[in-house]
Amino acid sequence: MSLEIPDTEKTLTKFKVRVLLVDDQLIIVEALRRMLADTDDIEFHFVTDAANALQCAIELQPTVILQDLVMPGADGFELLRQYRACEALEHVPVVVLSAREDPKLKAHAFATGANDYLVKLPDRLEMLARVRYHSNAHISRLQRDQAFRFLRESQQQLAAANIELQKLAALDALTGIANRRRFDETLLLEWQRGQRERTPLSLLMCDVDCFKIFNDTYGHQAGDMCLKRAAAVLTEHLRRPADLAARYGGEEFAIILPDTDGAGALSVARACVQTMEQLAIENRGVSSGVVTLSIGLATMVPAKPFSPADLIGAADQALYAAKRAGRNRAIDAASIPSSAA
Ligand code: GH3
Ligand code: MG
Ligand code: MG
Repeated sequence: MSLEIPDTEKTLTKFKVRVLLVDDQLIIVEALRRMLADTDDIEFHFVTDAANALQCAIELQPTVILQDLVMPGADGFELLRQYRACEALEHVPVVVLSAREDPKLKAHAFATGANDYLVKLPDRLEMLARVRYHSNAHISRLQRDQAFRFLRESQQQLAAANIELQKLAALDALTGIANRRRFDETLLLEWQRGQRERTPLSLLMCDVDCFKIFNDTYGHQAGDMCLKRAAAVLTEHLRRPADLAARYGGEEFAIILPDTDGAGALSVARACVQTMEQLAIENRGVSSGVVTLSIGLATMVPAKPFSPADLIGAADQALYAAKRAGRNRAIDAASIPSSAA
């Protein structure tokens, strides 16, 4: 069993300003290349063939596109529409580079999805300012989206870790079966269910025989290993999803068998006793020579004025009777004369 701790160390990507110029005129390309040269924070890319512009932009993921309007065989507006229709580019800022200061053209550019409109060619300072402004806005958006993604991921990891934690909180650390807390909760729930449905509820209290001698002979680590194997034996004999084997405490275990009568519970108990003996884990300090189990069981149809404590008490008395009768056996509380119990 292990608990995966969510990774909270993720850092946001540092994006660089990346300009893509889409213009067929090499003279413009050269002018812009010069304007943007000598800047450490800006990468400059260009494409002169409009037919390649969309694919190039998708691959490059620029932080701003500088878009010419009139190109041979292509309409800058059409390209603009294509950027906006493409998931990978829909939010990338586009600055239209137009040859004319024309209000109608400008209005059309903005209506088509442009973020800015410049008449070719503005001076270097203005160009740099616009490129940085639009790019930084885009980078902030990318980082915000990434931060949200990280947050969502870590929320999902936390939720998964919580579920895992809840499972672990209900399990016994040594044997991996249900712990006492889970046993108490389950017994109460099954008691209530049995009460509603008027069905019998059986409880088996199981105790490793002469376990003190085993520990004294082989040591505590061997003792722990033995408890793990005992837990596995008990689990192995459960057949229904609602059945539950739990570590009750120390070398004592308990099995809850909902909707199970005394005969059914006794056959499970006997099977557990038999399997444990057949495992033949050596315990040379005792007469049988191997580790064995004693089990006391009790069955009740839950009803007032009784409570789960009465069921536990009855199963405990049957366990005590099994010990007195010589261990390595299962005894049903119903078979004990009331004076002897
Ligand atoms: P009986 O047949 O009457 O049950 O005798 P017993 O020796 O099993 O009973 P007793 O209650 O005298 O001793 C129980 C022993 O179980 C003593 C205790 O050290 C050991 N024990 C309890 N919990 C653990 C555990 O987690 N690991 C190990 N190794 N030993 C444990
Ligand atoms: Mg004991
Ligand atoms: Mg014991």
